[in-house]
Amino acid sequence: MSELTDSELVPLCLEHNFWTWAAQAQVEPIPISHAKGVYFWDIHGKRYLDFNSMVMCVNIGHGDERVIEAIVRQARELPFAGPHMATRPRARLGQLLAEITPPGLTKFLYTLGGADANENAIKLARGYTGRWKILARYRSYHGATYGAIAATGDPRRLAWEPLTMPGVVHFLDPYRYRSTFHRTQPDLPEAEFTQDYLNHLEEIIHYEGPNTIAAILIETVTGTNGVIIPPQGYLQGVRALCDRYGILLICDEVMSGFGRTGAWFAVDHYGVVPDLMTMAKGLTSGYAPLGAVAMKPEIAAFYNERVYQGGLTYNGHPISLAAAIATIEVMKEDHLVERARATGEVLAEMLAELMDRHPSVGEVRSIGLFGAIELVRNRRTREPLAPYNGTSPEMTALRRFLLERGLFLYTHWNVILIIPPLIITPEQLAEGFAILDEGLQITDRGVT
Ligand code: PLP
Repeated sequence: MSELTDSELVPLCLEHNFWTWAAQAQVEPIPISHAKGVYFWDIHGKRYLDFNSMVMCVNIGHGDERVIEAIVRQARELPFAGPHMATRPRARLGQLLAEITPPGLTKFLYTLGGADANENAIKLARGYTGRWKILARYRSYHGATYGAIAATGDPRRLAWEPLTMPGVVHFLDPYRYRSTFHRTQPDLPEAEFTQDYLNHLEEIIHYEGPNTIAAILIETVTGTNGVIIPPQGYLQGVRALCDRYGILLICDEVMSGFGRTGAWFAVDHYGVVPDLMTMAKGLTSGYAPLGAVAMKPEIAAFYNERVYQGGLTYNGHPISLAAAIATIEVMKEDHLVERARATGEVLAEMLAELMDRHPSVGEVRSIGLFGAIELVRNRRTREPLAPYNGTSPEMTALRRFLLERGLFLYTHWNVILIIPPLIITPEQLAEGFAILDEGLQITDRGVT
């Protein structure tokens, strides 16, 4: 095969590649060349500071030789084995995951990514309980496959309706800044706020009929829909409702897992153990595709004498499992969970300073290195700077400015997400925040 020249790269990608989540004619791909640490470079030598861990997944940072070496070693030894082979990486990864996941989750089903981890969790729960409904939240994203997109509450699901998986009922998120129930009660004590949302969920359980509900599926900390952090007592309350009505709790930790929040998993902050927990992204830091469903042994045992009808050719691919093992070892060796917690405090301070300086910042939220800046036209009315499920000239101009200045991040409607690799230093965070500080002058001009 002849070498491609730099100038051929983008035209050929545009000619032959069909892009996902995009209008084909509007795609402007960055011609990425290489990546290291918290930076990546394009073929013209321009450097980008990665405030999105690429796709919220490169938690250990780019180009870690220890993971690359593990992948190469595995590829030499045994690049592929079918899903029913006992392989060295399969044996080792299960051990490691049982150590770092919440106590009681001891069995792991390996998938190709986050969406099919959620598909399997739903299927396992339906089989185990003999019930079919799944309760999930509106402000959620669970993946783009048939069942996962149906569970997703975010309007990305609407494009697929009405032909999505049946049986999903959505409920409201405990989103303090935009609380449906408390617009006129900003000072309501947190415990009462939490209770109102638990009452709302319990009412839905009654109306749907507890005996029809297999599982409640939630992102422990909501990711793309704006880093919504559960209020005190909420997760414990959801767990209690599940126990009361024989419903399984599925926590989606695809984005919030693997150190992102300053704990191995976000559930660890609340002392809650879900019945099923899904993960992906940080599991391999994106070095190879992999997801997993962690489950309690009784759920696995239910399938002892029944065939679990599911599985794909590449489930438990040795190269991906080897990448996951190496990633977890790197995280332990470099104390990345502790580091995320400490640098997370710096992030929280920087976010608060940004809010002081910019009238277009309505609220900032963060837990560990999982942060959000919510932009508004008016702090008093909280009118979002971009409409629901859309964008605005100010948001478009801000995105262009940041990218132009080499700050790579993700925005969702009126929210900027800050999800850097866990290895980021306070100095590198400050480098990104200096660009944000300049960029927010654009959105400040949209304030009324
Ligand atoms: N769940 C959550 C919380 C996610 O953020 C994502 C992806 O962004 C998914 C599931 C789907 O993961 P994947 O894209 O690996 O299928």
